[in-house]
Amino acid sequence: MTVVAIDGPAGAGKSTVARLVADEIGVPYLDTGAMYRCVALAVLRRGVSHGDVDEIASIAESVEISLHADTVLLDGQDVSTEIRTSEVGAVVSIIAAMTPVRNSMRSQQQKWIADHGGGVVEGRDIGTVVLPHADVKIFLTASAQERAARRVQQSGGDLAQVAKEIEGRDHLDSTRQDSPLQPASDAVHVDTTGLSISEVVASIVAIVHKKQEIKNV
Ligand code: C5P
Repeated sequence: MTVVAIDGPAGAGKSTVARLVADEIGVPYLDTGAMYRCVALAVLRRGVSHGDVDEIASIAESVEISLHADTVLLDGQDVSTEIRTSEVGAVVSIIAAMTPVRNSMRSQQQKWIADHGGGVVEGRDIGTVVLPHADVKIFLTASAQERAARRVQQSGGDLAQVAKEIEGRDHLDSTRQDSPLQPASDAVHVDTTGLSISEVVASIVAIVHKKQEIKNV
């Protein structure tokens, strides 16, 4: 089975595109951002201070996260909507910068790929750190303006506020020491500004098919 890594900043369209590419090539899909969001939600619910790395590490290690086609379960409870709130968005990048949290998530993500034998996995460090041997690596981007506008269209909110939130998260994600957001050296850059979802999906599927042909020769 094929392994496709899709990385990029917030609002670049990774989730929508990754899901459709997975359907198109007949492999499962993993949203790793949802996993970090689950840890952030668990930390918020328990009222743990952001400075308490040991306690946060133990939460990351002990919570049970399970991702299904349309639902995200945290310790058996459906949190699909709750993990997308602005409260979670405000802390997720702080928590995701912690090395013990990343270690827990990374090993679960690598196990997911080993269990499924392949898939489309999207996040920030998939092509660089989690799956450095992925068959295809895509770095998805779009202009900051378009990314904010897409988020507002998807989940509502004030455009200026959403743009600020995205900018803050991207800054934390790309400047952290442990597995920062950056393109893998062998990633194909896809700028989705002004493109339709189907155009982006078709171009990625074409890249995957080309790679599969080379592999099968
Ligand atoms: O993809 P999404 O925007 O839901 O990700 C939420 C946050 O989770 C990111 O801003 C980032 O801080 C963190 N994340 C990460 N590594 C990943 C996926 C997400 O650090 N592979």
